[in-house]
Amino acid sequence: MSKALSPLDVALEQLNIVAEKMDLDPNIHEVLKHPKRSLIVSVPIRRDNGEVNVFMGCRVQHNDARGPFKGGIRYHPNVTVDEVTALAMWMTWKCAVVDIPYGGAKGGVACNPKELSKKEIEGITRRFTTMLLEIIGPYRDVPAPDVYTDGQTMAWIMGTYSQYKGYRVPEVVTGKPIDVGGSEGRVEATALGVVFCIREATKQLKMPLKGASVAIQGFGNVGWNAANILHNLGCKIVAVSDSQGGIYDPHGIIPSKVYEYKEKSGSVVNFKGAQSITNNELLEIPCDILVPAALENQILKNNADRIKAKIVAEAANGPTTPEADKVLFEKKVFLIPDILANSGGVASSYFEWVQNLTREHWVTKETNKKLEVKMVKAFRDVYAISKKERVDMRNAALMLGVGRVAEAIRILGLWP
Ligand code: NAD
Repeated sequence: MSKALSPLDVALEQLNIVAEKMDLDPNIHEVLKHPKRSLIVSVPIRRDNGEVNVFMGCRVQHNDARGPFKGGIRYHPNVTVDEVTALAMWMTWKCAVVDIPYGGAKGGVACNPKELSKKEIEGITRRFTTMLLEIIGPYRDVPAPDVYTDGQTMAWIMGTYSQYKGYRVPEVVTGKPIDVGGSEGRVEATALGVVFCIREATKQLKMPLKGASVAIQGFGNVGWNAANILHNLGCKIVAVSDSQGGIYDPHGIIPSKVYEYKEKSGSVVNFKGAQSITNNELLEIPCDILVPAALENQILKNNADRIKAKIVAEAANGPTTPEADKVLFEKKVFLIPDILANSGGVASSYFEWVQNLTREHWVTKETNKKLEVKMVKAFRDVYAISKKERVDMRNAALMLGVGRVAEAIRILGLWP
């Protein structure tokens, strides 16, 4: 039986494919295969019961030819250096696709936050930050939240870094709460970016957005906000789900009512008037637009053929496998790949960093407008490549991202 590809295998294979399509300089290809720096540390903390536990932590800095490294820090028991390396590589391409002056990085600590107290998580965060002091910084590497880290985690990182510097340095991390330098609109930014991409895709397909039926997998930050924004634009949200299951109503649900219900009950499941469905059934529901906004590896070789949506907008990272990509392309499903669709999150992080560096604070209307300009330009750049090179949107996005990074490396040259 063949072994499933690891995220790093997939990332390197994607790079190989686009390198060939683009006729990439083999020397630059060689550079891009490897992260510039990987730091692996052991993070010891004293647990609430007095015991000392040690957790593996790492920060992988893939490439900084276009600007300081940028990428989230995740806390999850399955964190490995290989996985973090793949995620760092994808961040390099994503920042280049949305054309912000950052390179790519990712970090993680292999721990289970569900089994740790808030004090223990704070301990891990502050200790881990001291171990990263030499390699992070506003012009070096700017972390952000990822799986099971949030604004509070970023505030602890900023506080610890600032203590060492002797002055407040909000620009060392993004995704902070607004009171300590966060940006207006950050919470909705990823979803809004996804919606801008969907709007552009419907224009290309000459399909009205108003009245389009939408199914959304995942009802967390991105899924709920995407549902709400699309509903306000006149779409019909026919299905949503979370880790416990999904709901379906062909007449359309009102996302804010489902949100209120989930706040009380803990899940969207059993929402009054809707039919219960599984997460797999949600993917195959008849609809115009499908938004996977939960986990990786959801659209696979064995279910891709049953997807009925005309547009698949990847709000989540890595929801579609490379084999499923081929099936969707053959079925003429218009796929908006993750490194384009969800790049509104990192674009908004960039706005936060700029505001922090200039000690300014922009209003939501301003951040949303800037986001729209970035997302529409990125979508049109990727779409133009897909038409010119006759490739799917995933390969077009990779060609754009890899191409921009390769060009920066070429201009900078190799020294010494
Ligand atoms: P979140 O934790 O707020 O929400 C995740 C949602 O997925 C929850 O509703 C959860 O119940 C659901 N879920 C978990 N397991 C599931 C399963 N097996 N089947 C169906 N649903 C399941 O996370 P989020 O911030 O909304 O992120 C969602 C996705 O978007 C992730 O892939 C993340 O990497 C990606 N993303 C998020 C951002 C951001 O700014 N938050 C930016 C870029 C990419």
